Amino acid sequence: MKLRFVLPVLALLSGIVTAAPAAAQADPSAADACYTWGRTLSQGASGEDVRQLQIRVAGYPGYGAVLGLDGQFGAGTKAAVTRFQQAYGLGADGIAGPATFAKIYALQDNDCTPVNFTYDELNNCNSDWSGGNVSAATARANALVSMWKLQAMRHAMGDRPIDVNGGFRSVSCNNAVGGAAGSRHLYGDAVDLGAGPQGFCALAKQARNHGFNEILGPGYTGHNDHVHVAHKSSRFWSAPSCGI
Ligand SMILES: [Zn+2]
Repeated sequence: MKLRFVLPVLALLSGIVTAAPAAAQADPSAADACYTWGRTLSQGASGEDVRQLQIRVAGYPGYGAVLGLDGQFGAGTKAAVTRFQQAYGLGADGIAGPATFAKIYALQDNDCTPVNFTYDELNNCNSDWSGGNVSAATARANALVSMWKLQAMRHAMGDRPIDVNGGFRSVSCNNAVGGAAGSRHLYGDAVDLGAGPQGFCALAKQARNHGFNEILGPGYTGHNDHVHVAHKSSRFWSAPSCGI
């Protein structure tokens, strides 16, 4: 190889080495188009990489719990990572290292959504995510978290497809479909589910394990034909026909 070709390559390699995190422990060959972790994370760690991990394991908080997405790797995050590892047959030590990140990479698309869900299907009126009760960026971020919760729920229910009928609504979209005034659809985190192969009651019951503080289903006004799951500051579950 002639020198004039070697030099640019060396410059490129140099750039790559400089850009890599100093404390990198994860396998660099596992670099992911969405997000790549550069260090092993365990209890006591903090930072944006912890928050990115928390989003991916938000569906594993335990029954009735909601994982905080605060970038602080505490006991709740350790428990969620452990449940994620157990769900996928990994060594379950609550420490997120190369094997855990490899599984996450395999589960996420280049836009950071989990492989079985998309932004488009969580958007009722084909909007640009603006016009709700939060900024478009926040609405999309909220939808992303709900998708990771659904991915956990889907896996727990045998990896059968979950039927998504919509999610985010702008105010005008919400009014057009007759949504409630304070609907979580205006915040981007609400998702309406069809019966799918699981059935409404199985979905509503299973959702209790995956970080959904709001679950509305059969027997609750207006919810006999779908199950609504969302985030909410305090828990409200109601699907009387399902015993919830
Ligand atoms: Zn709904």
